[in-house]
Amino acid sequence: MRKKIIAGNWKMNMTFDEGQKLTSEIVNMYKDESISDVEVVLNVPFPHIMPVKKLIGKTPRIFVGAQNCSDQDSGAYTGEVSAKILASFDTDFVILGHSERRQYFGEDNELLAKKVKKALEHGLTPIFCCGESLEIREAGTHLPNVKFQLKQSLFDLSAEEFSKIVIAYEPIWAIGTGKTASAEEAQEMHDSLRKSIASKYGSEVANSTPILYGGSMNAGNAKELLSKPDVDGGLIGGASLKSRDFLEIIKSY
Ligand code: PGA
Repeated sequence: MRKKIIAGNWKMNMTFDEGQKLTSEIVNMYKDESISDVEVVLNVPFPHIMPVKKLIGKTPRIFVGAQNCSDQDSGAYTGEVSAKILASFDTDFVILGHSERRQYFGEDNELLAKKVKKALEHGLTPIFCCGESLEIREAGTHLPNVKFQLKQSLFDLSAEEFSKIVIAYEPIWAIGTGKTASAEEAQEMHDSLRKSIASKYGSEVANSTPILYGGSMNAGNAKELLSKPDVDGGLIGGASLKSRDFLEIIKSY
């Protein structure tokens, strides 16, 4: 049995008060629904980590994550935050390789391989994002393209290290555009990624690796996407900023 994970990605949104309100609503609704088999992760801007963690308290199956970390532990890197620092604040997860980081901050597969290593070294669970551009999708080379991202950033890990990774497939053309991949398109990619993990690490590791889908997932389309056998959850941007929408997605699983 693979873990089911619904992860919110707040991106660069939410003031302190807004974040506190959203988190309290999610925690309270989640408790009321007594959902027992879905793990929820709130990937928040750095300053929210401690206060959000405090609000979550001992609520089972809700975790807090960051959206990036450095490939270094400490030193003269003004503005950066390391996995070591995040771990000391009891951060559970960290999103790495989001397409916005790749596009706006020039993060490439090699740098991401280093960041993944650092996250694992300090006990954080990386949510490793991969996905293709519209151009690549239209050229029909999306399957090898995304597999290559995994290979370059993750396939130097040992099987033990890899078994701690969560993958998020996020087609770039679907992020924040309102245009999602069809459930069939998501399933095709997830199946292909799982096969490539199996050929590198064996079927036991492949079958236990959660592969989330991300890109305009919302309360209306979540059920169908999450019904696919190789879709093990979602990474949700826009729809994670409203407690009701986010909870609807969790419930639809
Ligand atoms: P979206 O973002 O749900 O707003 O498309 C997803 C993501 O970027 O993680």
